[in-house]
Amino acid sequence: MTKNVIGNSLDENVTLTSEVLSSMTDGVYIVDRDRRILFWNKAAERITGYKATDVMGSFCRDDILCHVDHSGQCLCEKGCPLEAIIEDGVPRELHVYLSHQKGHRVPVHVRGTPIFGTDNQVIACVEVFNDDTQRLSMMDRLAKLEDQALLDPLTGLTNRRHFEQTLEKSINRYQRQHKPFGLILVDIDQFKKINDFYGHDMGDQLIGLIARTLSGHCRAYDTASRWGGDKFAVIIDDIDQQTLTEMAERMRNTVNRSALEHNECHITVSVSIGASIVQEDEDAQTFFQRVNDLLLNAKQKGRNQTWSSDMASE
Ligand code: GH3
Ligand code: MG
Repeated sequence: MTKNVIGNSLDENVTLTSEVLSSMTDGVYIVDRDRRILFWNKAAERITGYKATDVMGSFCRDDILCHVDHSGQCLCEKGCPLEAIIEDGVPRELHVYLSHQKGHRVPVHVRGTPIFGTDNQVIACVEVFNDDTQRLSMMDRLAKLEDQALLDPLTGLTNRRHFEQTLEKSINRYQRQHKPFGLILVDIDQFKKINDFYGHDMGDQLIGLIARTLSGHCRAYDTASRWGGDKFAVIIDDIDQQTLTEMAERMRNTVNRSALEHNECHITVSVSIGASIVQEDEDAQTFFQRVNDLLLNAKQKGRNQTWSSDMASE
């Protein structure tokens, strides 16, 4: 293993390397052995929404980014990769979700590397992370749709019209090629109460938060749309039922882990989900209706759960 040995004076080292790291397009931050943040580059500001001045000197375990894994498990207290690297000096790489300053979750690819002092001890750790390029290419695609009145202005997702066009096209392609695709319908639970309690503006912000969370789970050629009101529809290309159900559950878990800050309180919501891959001989309308019935079952059975054609989970 090649070791990054820079010296024993951490302040000196951080000054030396900060110019190079500042210009990187990946997010970079450096923590000392106590996981205190010593350096935070411009790309880290862009990806997380936190300015260097917001985070420098604080501890990364202080719920700033609050990394969670695919199942929604918080890694800060148990399973922190930086803590493990500081312990054993072994670099690590993983896919996690960080908490953006605006409250939504951002999927990131994280690489953590130890920095060794001359006495062979780990004196700090560098984390390099980036939001996935698939998501960025999807945003490019959405920018092109803006001109065609197919975007929902509140969320930036495609609108119901675009969803219906895409569903028709997907059904036609399925009838020709028999490559299964999936539909996930998501509806916010008890959203009227949120509007009544916090006001319509906060309600709008929560709709935006859910939209960002759902699109964060999509691959480049999946389509997340705002179907209307507090309901979203996601078409997932080329997928089997089990993977679709797992994806829907990840969406639900991530929403559960997301929060909006308002007057020093965390506003959280849950969603109910219906998810299924298309069946032989279904047209767009019958497929949509069947998945919508699954969603209604999830609501009737207590909300905050996924109902799919192969399972029901809480
Ligand atoms: P349920 O768990 O059964 O879904 O309960 P719910 O209260 O979420 O009920 P429903 O989905 O039927 O209600 C959706 C509400 O969303 C109704 C409407 O007041 C609100 N809504 C619809 N569009 C918007 C919007 O653009 N902004 C805001 N803030 N609220 C909206
Ligand atoms: Mg609702």
